[in-house]
Amino acid sequence: MDLVFFGIQGSGKGTQAKTLAAELKYYIFEAGGELRKIKASGTDLGELVKKYIDNGELVPFEIIMEVVNEAVAAVPDDQKILFDGIPRDEDQMNAFDKILSDAGRQIRCVHILLDKDEAVERIKGRAEIEGRADDADQEKVLRRMDLFSEKTMPVIAEYESAGKVIEIDGKGSVEEIYARIKDGIADLN
Ligand code: AMP
Repeated sequence: MDLVFFGIQGSGKGTQAKTLAAELKYYIFEAGGELRKIKASGTDLGELVKKYIDNGELVPFEIIMEVVNEAVAAVPDDQKILFDGIPRDEDQMNAFDKILSDAGRQIRCVHILLDKDEAVERIKGRAEIEGRADDADQEKVLRRMDLFSEKTMPVIAEYESAGKVIEIDGKGSVEEIYARIKDGIADLN
């Protein structure tokens, strides 16, 4: 069973996803990380991707879906995948579901719940630690959070009604949240 991690910016999703993937030997697909590699590639595509990332906007559908498609094709059938940062809207969800079902893969989702106010406070701290340009600009962070509410929450709701979502309380320490996630997915494999 593959996993898909959801959580508002600042919820700790990326950190939790990385730790869990390392411990439980998931191949991790981090959408933002893959796109930042393309951004840094010095190509025309990189320049295009940079504009979207730096503005806190979603990179065009075709670009991100090709990256996901290639990644899934390259992973052996018996290797579990943890997806972080995809799908972000309904179109991506439909294409993503098709890629996975064609590959004979099934998912469960982990949604780390956190209030927007608390998420804003946390992301201020992250900007200072990691120095990510798109985290340093408060306006862009808020834009990404709005996109999460408007575009990604409906995706989570659909997976929820299909009974595929495990909700995790995102308050507390990194260790507490990690323990909740491990508990939540304990019955999966
Ligand atoms: P993240 O690291 O998940 O916060 O993503 C950083 C940035 O990468 C986002 O603000 C978007 O510009 C871009 N990005 C990440 N995932 C996606 C996706 N699934 N679709 C489109 N753009 C994405």
